[in-house]
Amino acid sequence: AELAEEDEALIARRQRLLGPAYRLMYANPVHLVRGEGVWLYDNKGDAYLDVYNNVASVGHCHPRVVEAMSRQAATLSTNTRYLHETILDYSEQLLGTFPEELQHVMFTCTGSETNDLAMRIARAFTGGTGFIVTETAYHGITHAVSELSPSLGRHVDLGVHVRTVPAPDLYRSNNGDVAGKFTADVAAAAEDLSRHGIKPAALIVDTIFSSDGVFPEPKGFLSGAVDAIRAAGGLFIADEVQPGFGRTGDTLWGFQRHGVVPDMVSLGKPMGNGYPVAGLVMKPDLIEDFGARARYFNTFGGNTVAVATAKAVLDVIFDEGLQSNAASVGKYLHDGLNAIAANSEMIGDVRSAGLFLGVEIVEDRTTRAPSADRAAKLVNGLRKKRVLISATGPNANVLKVRPPLVFTRDNADFFLERFEATVREPN
Ligand code: PMP
Repeated sequence: AELAEEDEALIARRQRLLGPAYRLMYANPVHLVRGEGVWLYDNKGDAYLDVYNNVASVGHCHPRVVEAMSRQAATLSTNTRYLHETILDYSEQLLGTFPEELQHVMFTCTGSETNDLAMRIARAFTGGTGFIVTETAYHGITHAVSELSPSLGRHVDLGVHVRTVPAPDLYRSNNGDVAGKFTADVAAAAEDLSRHGIKPAALIVDTIFSSDGVFPEPKGFLSGAVDAIRAAGGLFIADEVQPGFGRTGDTLWGFQRHGVVPDMVSLGKPMGNGYPVAGLVMKPDLIEDFGARARYFNTFGGNTVAVATAKAVLDVIFDEGLQSNAASVGKYLHDGLNAIAANSEMIGDVRSAGLFLGVEIVEDRTTRAPSADRAAKLVNGLRKKRVLISATGPNANVLKVRPPLVFTRDNADFFLERFEATVREPN
């Protein structure tokens, strides 16, 4: 009913041209034309506070990134089969942020391609084919990784070589022993694969468990599971597409919060601040055999514009202290949300690492029954107040608060004020 006529026409045109597989956000979709920092502007010139988009992680259209990207686009746009220094300068800088065991980086264009490559390498190295993922994991859209992505829904079959384990959910844990349970679940999944004649190749997890509902705590809970997959002959792949590049605040990479060293690390989304650049970081022995036998050429992966852009993004993260900003503003937001939760039965839990926050919406705090309905009302209510967030998790009841890393305390106050007002609105 609230839809403007011109938006209705645009929606119809989209459906006619793009077909039925695309989804818009919101009952009343936002028509964006411009972005700057933490703000997005619609076609009427109204500003929306972006508390959701982790891709534009150093802020929408950051001038330094735009400048590096356009300068390189105007100079040379070509691929990795010619000598060029920028890819090496960037790789050196990037690899310098990882534990020393992780020595190579290969470039792709998307997180999906990265995980697809990780699967191929894991299979080639271990001789196994089995993968273990969490119950509502998302690892991408290629045929292979869609089989590792139960969050795509029942219309996508999980591979016969795939086993799922419950996400490490502290809020719904019976005894608080998230680490012990997750370790035992991974060990049991590996055994089940073996029992069916499938050798485990890897455990792959998003180290912030975003699509499972955001599970950052307690730090260190991954380490037993990593030991368990290795004991079963498999590798550990950390999918850092969501938590990576400083978002979790106290460390640059999500896996570091757990004190583990992965065999491979998948990077994507925020890596180019919106330019499609992604990559896989790995231990060198994994690729020795594969690299000697198979050639890897990705037409656009690691192209000169991509790496110039990615380099500017990493420079901005360091020069503007965005990791420590994520830690401090993230804590401020967490405390602010907790204060609001204290007066609201519908907020069951607030959890976070840096500027990656999950706010679990429930029927009431005693039953903890998930409320997708209330979560959707909050998301749409905030949209009316020109604040953009979304919901995640198996029951779509966990609000995902994940703003660009340049988010300030003032931005946080703006968000918290509107969030509180929306929570207080009658149902
Ligand atoms: N892994 C995770 C954890 C993701 O969140 C995503 C994207 N939502 C992907 C992989 C796939 O990345 P892309 O969309 O760039 O292919």
